[in-house]
Amino acid sequence: IADTHMNETNRDGIAHGSSTEKRPAEARRIQANSGSQLRKPLCSLLPASMPSPSLRLAVVGAGAAGLAAARELRREGHAPVVFERAAAVGGTWLYASPAPAAAADPLGAAATHSSLYASLRTNLPREVMGFLDFPFTAARGSVVDARRFPGHQEVLRYLEDFTQRFDLYGLVRFQTEVVGVRREAGGRWAVTSRKLGEKGEQDEELYDAVVVCNGHYSEPRVASIPGDLYFPTLTGADAWPGKQMHSHNYRVPEPFLDQVVIVIGASASAVDISRDIASVAKEVHIADRSAPTSTCEQQPEYDNMWLHSMIDHAQGDGTVVFQDGSSIKADVIMHCTGYLYDFPFLGDDSTITVDDNCVDPLYKHVFPIEVAPDLSFIGVPWKVIPFPLFELQSKWVAGILSGRIKLPSKDEMMEDVKAIYSRLETRGWPKRYTHNFSGGYQFEYDDWLAEQCGHPPIEEWRKLMYAANAKNKAARPERYRDEWDDDGLVALANEDFKKYF
Ligand code: FAD
Repeated sequence: IADTHMNETNRDGIAHGSSTEKRPAEARRIQANSGSQLRKPLCSLLPASMPSPSLRLAVVGAGAAGLAAARELRREGHAPVVFERAAAVGGTWLYASPAPAAAADPLGAAATHSSLYASLRTNLPREVMGFLDFPFTAARGSVVDARRFPGHQEVLRYLEDFTQRFDLYGLVRFQTEVVGVRREAGGRWAVTSRKLGEKGEQDEELYDAVVVCNGHYSEPRVASIPGDLYFPTLTGADAWPGKQMHSHNYRVPEPFLDQVVIVIGASASAVDISRDIASVAKEVHIADRSAPTSTCEQQPEYDNMWLHSMIDHAQGDGTVVFQDGSSIKADVIMHCTGYLYDFPFLGDDSTITVDDNCVDPLYKHVFPIEVAPDLSFIGVPWKVIPFPLFELQSKWVAGILSGRIKLPSKDEMMEDVKAIYSRLETRGWPKRYTHNFSGGYQFEYDDWLAEQCGHPPIEEWRKLMYAANAKNKAARPERYRDEWDDDGLVALANEDFKKYF
């Protein structure tokens, strides 16, 4: 690793050539209540030379978001402790065979966190997907799967490299689940955690602030909301004799050999899973809520896959009837209907509510206004490039916690949240799209965060490549991961990455 990267990593508080964690002196455990005294009033940008006040922080989760947060918080001089339920880093990217519980409750969250299936390859090109200053490039030393859209194992390797490179392992308490987060009278936060396995002992500790990075692709949402155009009730589904499962519990196609499978949904997972299953199934029928009522189209390049409008109802004789009146006798309904935000460890004192996948009220999708900046959420937005967004949100949170970056008044923050809601209304989007960043908003948001942090905006090549990938995916849904037209942008990205190697 060349000098440029080394200079950068100095700010991570890591000794050159050493894997030993070395925190800034001020990042030691602090006295009770000192965090809030130091932090308030929030001052405007302080000179870079001034040491930032150190806070003891709890980070929930060691997926990509929690790792980015841990790195940025420590870089700012804070002392983060990362709680991770699993025995390893990676979150979503830790592929897991479904637990036995999944067989008993195939529509439920079961005991697995990850929703990955065995064949999963990334849906973003690696150049776009990686962290801003730690490129996810095939030129990295430990690359095994050098494809531009690699399999999920390669992403896990990349996150492990990130953890190693920035010496984050020492910050993580593995197999430790956060079961409660409570606001104490003095403004600090009592975090209750449970060591998994063994005796399952619980522990309660005080922190100055809590950063929630628990992901939002683990709690299945199932098609069952009455009167909802987006997720109509599957009338008769209770009496329907076939098997129903959620994509969260899908891993491999073999169990669907020679079966007739209905896939509900048209998201990235639905597209991948329907194709995966079509390789062995007798028939696959995709029910897409946005397809016109009369739709019944055989899918190009498949003789056993059709696209339909949404399901109208299911019957006790095994028949599933679509909105146009056509019907299929099916063995399986696969719900690729997305996930729910879920923060089971937060009590009412978090001051947020989660209704129809809207976490409310969150200033800039990060801070619950009433308790900002003591509680924050990294990674709530969707339809984004996740890793760079996690990185920028984490830098912003870290700077705000130290008082280096200023938050507006509560009234101003509330006005901003209201503006998000009125934008939703103008677009005619449902509440559950509150954190949906499609339509070009993500780069506006990323660049706003970057500006707040004194960081350069998202690279132009990344923006162009993201758009080129979306276009290529639409044009070549079957082959976009192996055929593309943006080699010029790849060359630009690789040139840009040289400064980090
Ligand atoms: P997670 O990765 O879910 O990590 C959350 C962590 O928190 C987990 O390790 C979990 O164990 C831990 N945790 C949760 N609750 C607790 C608790 N109470 N106590 C302690 N620990 C807890 N993104 C891309 O960039 N490219 C892709 O190609 C891509 N494909 C995807 C495909 C699928 C099927 C899915 C589901 C997602 C995909 N994503 C993709 C998005 C992916 O989720 C993000 O890239 C990213 O991994 C999310 O990171 P996270 O840290 O927010 O959440």
